[in-house]
Amino acid sequence: MKIILMGPPGAGKGTQGNWISNYLNIPKVSSGDLFREHQNNHTELGKLASSYMQKGKLVPDKITVAMVMEWIENNKHAKGFVLDGYPRTLTQAEALDLSLTNNGLGNLDKAINVDVPTDVLISRLSGRLVCSNCSQIYNIKYAPPQNDNVCDTCKEQLYLRDDDKKEAIQKRIEVYFESTIPLISYYEATNILVQIDGSNSIDVVTNQLKNILSN
Ligand SMILES: [Zn+2]
Repeated sequence: MKIILMGPPGAGKGTQGNWISNYLNIPKVSSGDLFREHQNNHTELGKLASSYMQKGKLVPDKITVAMVMEWIENNKHAKGFVLDGYPRTLTQAEALDLSLTNNGLGNLDKAINVDVPTDVLISRLSGRLVCSNCSQIYNIKYAPPQNDNVCDTCKEQLYLRDDDKKEAIQKRIEVYFESTIPLISYYEATNILVQIDGSNSIDVVTNQLKNILSN
């Protein structure tokens, strides 16, 4: 089962991806994991990727596709894979399909889109607070500190990062939706798109996934 998992920031993709990976006993990876791994191991691809990131540029698709294909090749004895949050654009999707075909690995089986309304995403993502000293992350709603604005561990002040301000969150979500609309149409056209409602609780979403993967 070759699966890609799509969803905006705050959709719970990480959790769902881990669940699928355990349920089907197949490996999972995200492009973020791959970048970190390549950079930590100082590989040629990692150095190339870093050279773009240091200039504040996007890493070109061919570098990311090369990392993904190498990972797939290293995991070729598994019964499939889950790609978490990759591909993210139409160009990446086409490049991935082409690489799979060229390497005799066939087609993707499912493109699962975790759909969550923007207002739910904003409510989930806002309320994040970070400790100014030890960087521990809290959430006003889901993981509040014992005392308001004070870190449980080191008793220092908590603060709101610029990235976690409402306008920044909204912008991040907009950018995500803009870049993925063509991607969703692409997978719809190849009949592998599966939409799941990610606004429900983790258990409900997991059950939906179980039904989809059992078919
Ligand atoms: Zn702290």
